[in-house]
This record gives sequence, C-alpha cells and structure tokens, in this order.
Amino acid sequence: SNNYPSLPKQSKHGRKAIAVMTSGGDAPGMNSNVRAIVRSAIFKGCRAFVVMEGYSGLVHGGPEYIKEYSWEDVRGWSSEGGTNIGTARCMEFKERDGRLLGAQHLIEAGVDALIVCGGDGSLTGADLFRAEWPSLIAELLKNNRITKEQHTRYQHLNICGTVGSIDNDMSTTDATIGAYSALDRICKAIDYVEATANSHSRAFVVEVMGRNCGWLALLAGIATSADYILIPEKPSSSREWQEQMCDIVSKHRKRGKRTTIVIVAEGAISNDLTPISPADVHKVLVEKLGLDTRITTLGHVQRGGTAVAYDRILASLQGVEAVNAVLDTTPDTPSPLIAINENKITRKSLVDSVRLTKSVAEAIHSKDFKKAMSLRDTEFIEHLNNFMAINSADHNEPKLPSDKRLKIAIVNVGAPAGGINSAVYSMATYCMSQGHKPYAIYNGWTGLARHESVRSLDWKSMLGWQSLGGSEIGTNRATPEEADLGMIAYYFQKYQFDGLIIVGGFEAFVSLHQLEKARDSYAAFRIPMVLIPATLSNNVPGSEYSLGSDTALNALMEYCDVIKQSASSTRGRAFVVDVQGGNSGFLATCTSLAVGAQASYVPEEGISLDQLSQDIETLAEAFERSEGRGRFGKLILKSTNASKALSAENLAKVMTAEAEGRFDAKSAIPGHVQQGGLPSPIDRTRATRLAIKAVGFIETKQEIIREARADDEEFNPEDKEIESTAAVLGVKGSHIVFTSIRQLYDFEADVAKRMPKIIHWEGTRAIADHLVGRKIVQ
Ligand code: ATP
Repeated sequence: SNNYPSLPKQSKHGRKAIAVMTSGGDAPGMNSNVRAIVRSAIFKGCRAFVVMEGYSGLVHGGPEYIKEYSWEDVRGWSSEGGTNIGTARCMEFKERDGRLLGAQHLIEAGVDALIVCGGDGSLTGADLFRAEWPSLIAELLKNNRITKEQHTRYQHLNICGTVGSIDNDMSTTDATIGAYSALDRICKAIDYVEATANSHSRAFVVEVMGRNCGWLALLAGIATSADYILIPEKPSSSREWQEQMCDIVSKHRKRGKRTTIVIVAEGAISNDLTPISPADVHKVLVEKLGLDTRITTLGHVQRGGTAVAYDRILASLQGVEAVNAVLDTTPDTPSPLIAINENKITRKSLVDSVRLTKSVAEAIHSKDFKKAMSLRDTEFIEHLNNFMAINSADHNEPKLPSDKRLKIAIVNVGAPAGGINSAVYSMATYCMSQGHKPYAIYNGWTGLARHESVRSLDWKSMLGWQSLGGSEIGTNRATPEEADLGMIAYYFQKYQFDGLIIVGGFEAFVSLHQLEKARDSYAAFRIPMVLIPATLSNNVPGSEYSLGSDTALNALMEYCDVIKQSASSTRGRAFVVDVQGGNSGFLATCTSLAVGAQASYVPEEGISLDQLSQDIETLAEAFERSEGRGRFGKLILKSTNASKALSAENLAKVMTAEAEGRFDAKSAIPGHVQQGGLPSPIDRTRATRLAIKAVGFIETKQEIIREARADDEEFNPEDKEIESTAAVLGVKGSHIVFTSIRQLYDFEADVAKRMPKIIHWEGTRAIADHLVGRKIVQ
C-alpha cells in the first residue's frame, strides 16, 4: 500500500504515523526534506503523512489537509524548488482555539509525531504546541471532542524541528535549509551586476533579505568581494557607518577599483534602530562621493529556483535524522531540533534553540548589540571580522608591528578547483591588512624550480579573483621531488619565506609531506607550512571538505537534472552518468543523494555482478511501478574508477540487454564540466575562512619553529611542537582542525590509492541508497 519496494517485515516501532509540514516562508530544499521524511518513515515501517499548507492544514484538518503519502508521491521532489505541500502564514494557530483544532485534527488523523520544517516563527509555534499539548487534549476530552482511548494513546505530542528558512537565522545550527540556495541566487545576481557596474564604473546598492539576520548580506559580501555591508547585528550611528563606508569605498577607488558594491540587509539599522534603506545608502554614495549609483532590490528572486546541492543534501540527511529522532524520543526527552555544526548533523533542544534565536531579535530591539553578536555563532563573528579586516584595511598602516610582519608564499598544486582563486585573494588581502608580504608561486613547483616564478601579489591585479573559476596563479601536478627539491629550497632561502600555504588535492598533500621530510636537509623548509585542501575528489586526508568539491557537486547536479529531464521524455529511459573523482566516490555519492539517482557505483566498492543484476531488477520494478503515473527518467551514477572493465557506455549496454525490453539505458559523460564554471558561494566563502585561518596558523607557529630553525643540532622534526608546524587544515566532524602532515601521512592516508583510510561519506551512501529504495546485496 505504501509502495515501498522492500519494506522491512517487522518494525520495532509498531506502525507509528509520522507527519511532516512546511511552514513560514518557503525555502529551496524543503521538498528534499519532505521527501526524505516520507521515505525514511516508510522505510522504518511507519506510516507517512503530510500536513498541507502549514499550520492552516492543522487548523482545517481532514484528509484533504492531513494526507497519507506513499513512496511514489514524493518521486523527483529533490530537483523541485519551493515546497510542494504548501506553506502559509496562519494567524489562527497563534490563538489557543486554533491550536485546539490542530490537536483534534492530528488525533483524528492518527498522527503520533509531527516534524515541522520552518523558520523561527514556525518552530516557536511548534514548541508552544508541544508545551500546551496536555492541556489541549484535556480540554478536548472534557468537551467530548476526543475519546478516552484517544486521550490515552496520544498523551504526548512527539515533535521535531528541521530548520527551513533562507535567512539562516536559527541559533545552534550553522545552516538552515534554503540559506545557501538563496546565497547562490544573490551571488549570481551580484556577479551580473558587477559586470555592468564595471562597464560604467558605477556603484550598486543591493538589497537582500534578512530581517533580523545579516547572514545573507555578510556571506554575499565575502563571496562577491563587495565593498561594504550593512547588517542588523552590528549597527553604528548613522554618522559612523556613512563615514566608514565612504572611507572604504574611496580607498578602493583610489587603488584603482572601477566598481562599488554595497549590500544592505532588509533589516539593516543604525544604532538608534532607525532602518537604513537602500535609498539612504544611495544618497550618501551620490552626495558624498559623487558616484553614479543604482539600486537593485533582489526580492523574491532570492527564494526562487531549485535548491543547491548543499541544501538538498542537508535537507535529506536532516529528514532522515528527524525520523530517527522522533522514533528515539520518549516522553521525558526534550523535543529535538535537527541542526548542522560544521560538517556534522546534530540534535539540539528545540526549546533552547528557539529561545536563543528569539533573544537575538530581543537584544537588537533593546539596542544590546554586543549581546546580539555574542548570540550569533562563532563562525558568523569570524566571517564578519574577516570581511572587515580585508575591506577596511589601511595598507599604509597595517595591524601588526614591523617585527611581526612575515613573508608568506602561496602555491597551487594539482588540478584547478572552485575557490582556489578566492583562497589566494583572501590570503593576500588579509596579509596586506596584517602587514605581511604575500607572494604567489606561479605554476606550481615546476614553475618555481625552472623559472623562479615568484611574484609578490598586489591588490589591484587581484580584483575579481574572489569570484573566478580556475587558478589565476596557475597550477601544476608535479610534487617538489619531481620538480627539484634543491632548487625549491634555494628559492625559499632566496626569498626568505617565513611561511607557506599550499592549496590543492592529493598531490598537494604529498608535496607537504615531501617538504616536511626535507626539513632535515634544508633549513629553508623549517617554516610553518599548511595545506588547504582543494579538489573536486574531496579525498585529502585530514578533512571532510575540500575547496571545489561543492562547485563540482553543483555542476554535476545541474547536469544530472538536465539529463534526467531528457530521460523523462522517453518511456523507460535511464542514463548512466560517468563521474570523475579518481578513487574517491565522494562526488558520485553526494550527487546521487542530491538528484535521487537509482544507484551509484564507486571505486571503494567496485561493481559486483550480483549487485548489478539486483540494481537492474530494482530499476525495472521502479519503471513498472510508475507506469501511468506520468513520465519520468532514472539516473545511475558511475565513478570512472568504479570498474576498469565497464565504462559508462558498456554499463549502459549491459543494463539495456539485461532489462530485456523493460527499460533501456544510455550513457552520458559530463567530463570537465564537473570542474564547474564560477565557484559556488560555499567554496568562495570557505576559501576565505580557511585562507585567513591558514595565515593565522603561520603567525602562531612562527615562534615555535623560529628558535629551532637555525641550529641543525637543535632541530628535531619528531618533536611534537615542531611536528605541529606542518599541517593540513580541515573540517572534521563538527570542528575545524589542523592535523600534522606526519600524523596524516603515516596513519590516516592510503597513499597508494590516494585516499584517506577512513571514508567519511559512507553514511551518506547508505542514506542515498535507502531514499531511492535500492536493495544492497550483502
Ligand atoms: P521565515 O523565517 O521564513 O519567516 P517563519 O517560520 O519564521 O519563517 P513566521 O511567519 O514567523 O515564519 O511563522 C510561520 C507560522 O508559524 C505563523 O504563520 C504561525 O502560524 C506560526 N507561528 C509563528 N509564531 C507563532 C507563535 N508564537 N505561536 C504559535 N504559532 C506561531
């Protein structure tokens, strides 16, 4: 009845009924969340319900508003924007009578648990509903609106929140579902505006959403290297912001910048709570600086379109976790809110998160801006400090005293990846603000060894790099040993580098290892050295995230969306898509989750004949089940290295032959499209964050190594402190960490395979498979 192909026979949860609703403003990714919740509930042996039109659906009730959903009902939802189950702002639910009706209707429908995907308002409502539940059902019983049995059975409302909101304004979670999609729309718009601004040497004031939260404005500011931002959290007097903005903008103009971009959050205010409108900013730029200025208000375009890969994956993983959470919850456990911290899906207390979020708005309204900032997560504060450091810097009067100023080199190693230019730009501009001298080593180690390709980076020549794909300083695959270690040491000595930042993938990892090993023989390498992982394969040990992996994921996802649509036009058509990534199945796995592919084949697992024939059967059944339910196509993702024998083309042929007319498969090869065009906002903003952290690392590790540097006798590479000065900067679980290259190379890397020993995306694979009903042959 629920159409799930392999429903577990016995469920330990009984036949619980789990309902999901979307509420408040719509956000891209909500559909992925609903899909994951419906399918995960069914997978766990529960019944799945959706509540249509947010809280209005609860207030109205009945099968038209509280519907049981089947596995097939949410097919293809991952690639659709908005929310297919509707959302609403519902005034009745703010009244007790409305909630009383809601409780009655939920009980009538037989719902045991409710998962609400919405913003802080919606989750406040959910929390209130939960708190009031005992009194609501007591009243319903008293008035004979429910039976005694119903009263006993539905004694506790099991509730869970997943945060869907483009504002990213919920405390305790780093990202809300939809925020990165909105950021993507904003950055694209600003990239467009930048081109016309540049042509006319104009200034643009861009208004973005965010009533009590400047996250979108701030992150867009970083991703597009805007000149100035105005956000609600950190207001100043109207004189101060005007002076600061004019000072920064005119400094940038004097240094040769032709464009000016100022981003204003919807809720921007000055410190007496007067709203700052784009018109106010326009007036200042025109009257004080004489700039030809235009206003662009982005409006609902920001909510539009389909979700970016991050949101689809986040929403799917959180949907699965929300179902787990409601099944784990007992009457004594606090209602959970599903969050993400760095790279880890976590459970937080719904009440606490709502309370904390509310206190930000309260702090702003009571002009306690310090408190408002302190309630934002540390990443937000870090981003803001970074933005201001890069933008407001006075290069003639840098922050650090002259004896603390360093010469820092940056080099790209390996294939280009989205965000590499942003890392170079941010590293260099941040260095300038601190007083360090940034150098670029052009064209990798070969460039240095053969052509002494070292140049100091200057501000003007890097304009626009933040949003550019590829690698402006050039990159090369050779490792230092392949290029010429001795020559490299010679140039390090000649330029007196105090620190090195390497940006790249596995070759960069090997490079760092070689340089660290060579510290014994070459004193020039006895400097802090740090690697920022950057590769679409995302296979650098020590990090669960590499720059460029998000850009690649989006490029491949968009390609797959198009291919899937093409497949939908032909009856019974599947596509086998060939995916890059070396020996890493990261890209294939995450894309398959984002697009809802029927199966993915990855190098870590290979392709077994048993699994292949099972997948062909499952696929044939899926096609059969969907007969008469509209046209649709199916995708299979295959990493190039998943099988040497079976190319995507041959795999498609085998599938077609074995399907015996039940469906046919064709191959599709996206190739270098996967490197992406413009880097995604995630890769751009993380590049900035990581690059500045890397400079910080070189500053703090300077003292440790400086003393031991000159003296060969003294220098002991095995000393833990010394060891810590050559490290990989990465995301591990819920933290950003530096791990020494020794530790990683010796214990956490499978160097022959060019892979980390522990595959951090394994859990994602299982979820991608179970959300499409793939049967795994043991
Ligand atoms: P967004 O962040 O996109 O604005 P939101 O969830 O904060 O989303 P709201 O309009 O604030 O959007 O809330 C959505 C709905 O949640 C409201 O229309 C109302 O039905 C319900 N709701 C909000 N606040 C409360 C409350 N204090 N008590 C009961 N219900 C509420």
